[in-house]
Amino acid sequence: MVFEGLSSKLQDTFKKLKGKGKLTEKDIKEATREIKLALLEADVNFKVVKSFVKNINERALGADVLKSLTPGQQVIKIVNDELTSLMGGQPVKLTYSPKGMTVLMLVGLQGAGKTTTAGKLAAYIKKESKKVLLAACDVYRPAAIKQLQVIGKQVDAEVFADTEEKNPVVIAEKALKYAKEHFYDVVIFDTAGRLHIDEALMDELVQIKKSVTPDHIILNIDSMTGQEAVNVAETFNEKISLSGVILTKLDGDTRGGAALSVASVTGKPILFAGMGEKLTDLEIFYPDRMASRILGMGDVLTFIEKAQADFDEEKALELQEKIRKQTFTLEDFKQQLSQMKDMGSFKDILEMMPGAGKKALKGIDLDEKEFTRSEAIINSMTPEERNNPGIINANRRKRIAAGSGTRVQDVNKLLKGFEQSKKMMKQFSGLNNKKHGKFKFP
Ligand code: GDP
Repeated sequence: MVFEGLSSKLQDTFKKLKGKGKLTEKDIKEATREIKLALLEADVNFKVVKSFVKNINERALGADVLKSLTPGQQVIKIVNDELTSLMGGQPVKLTYSPKGMTVLMLVGLQGAGKTTTAGKLAAYIKKESKKVLLAACDVYRPAAIKQLQVIGKQVDAEVFADTEEKNPVVIAEKALKYAKEHFYDVVIFDTAGRLHIDEALMDELVQIKKSVTPDHIILNIDSMTGQEAVNVAETFNEKISLSGVILTKLDGDTRGGAALSVASVTGKPILFAGMGEKLTDLEIFYPDRMASRILGMGDVLTFIEKAQADFDEEKALELQEKIRKQTFTLEDFKQQLSQMKDMGSFKDILEMMPGAGKKALKGIDLDEKEFTRSEAIINSMTPEERNNPGIINANRRKRIAAGSGTRVQDVNKLLKGFEQSKKMMKQFSGLNNKKHGKFKFP
């Protein structure tokens, strides 16, 4: 989980604060010292840390906090606010040109995730009912054009490529002309990267910028690069003036320093975060939600949005009805498992829940294999057993385990899990019927 170390350190600091009825200046100083160390260890740029800690100190030492009845909570709120503003404050959404076609140029170092992100963006933009063209301008990495073509196919977006042409500026011009002639709403230029910033790369990008006059130049930053990410962002911004940043690989086991430094160092917003290798793994970046995630307060909003986007509403309602009438069966459970599988790993989902820090998640290791195993077990049952698991006796459990290539313990665990989830869902459906029950979740 990204921010894992930072998150658990900050939460430890807060625990100490919350345990105290009243706070002294010394308590606050000690807490801010711990926050500073935690940020530095997370590889946040030292200048950024310095001004961050200064702000926290000033606000936390303000008379209101020390006099407050819940000073610990107040300090947490301050840190939450400051983290949010550090990551850009308000979320900034991708905008489209009001004049006609929107031109996006993706830039970044090699391996930063440009080609993958181009595909993710195309999928995202297509959902907004726009016609998208992907333009392959990376002529140096032979596989890059092919990779973009494969990705384009996966997201059902056309790819403009010219394998004969060696000059990326000429390709870019041709792609732009093609996009105009074919009435595309958006064209995304996937440009070349280098392992390190060099003059030739920058010159080429400046040339492409001149010839296609992009509405947005978006820098892809690999979140795993830490401190170096700040230099990269600064240089790109100086040379070609960025509109925003996409942080890729934020799903990885990174310390998260780049995410916390880049917006404040460049003054440019983080538009999206790449949260995995799949082409659906792109999230709009909400600084406030990210701050809540870091502080272990959960990100229920993103969770609900994910659930709403991925769950078929009709099926969800059908399921709700079954739960209400108590006719929810293992067959339904199987269907639900496969929907969960589509949403991403169970752990990722749980990480968004309040209080789900690393410690809380210890021991939970429901990965996709587990889903697949559960499906295999259910498949080995007779339709009658799926409708009424109560009839599955010890003998049948053995047979089911053998049939699905699992152990009897696995079958027992699944049946227990099913009963538990039935109970849990009954509670959810109870919530749904109450007045605050907008939360639509099967
Ligand atoms: P490019 O050289 O900038 O075009 O980078 P690529 O798009 O080829 O990506 C480099 C590697 O990073 C590939 O293996 C991608 O699958 C992977 N990648 C890209 N974005 C993400 C992300 O958000 N999360 C993870 N885990 N991997 C990613």
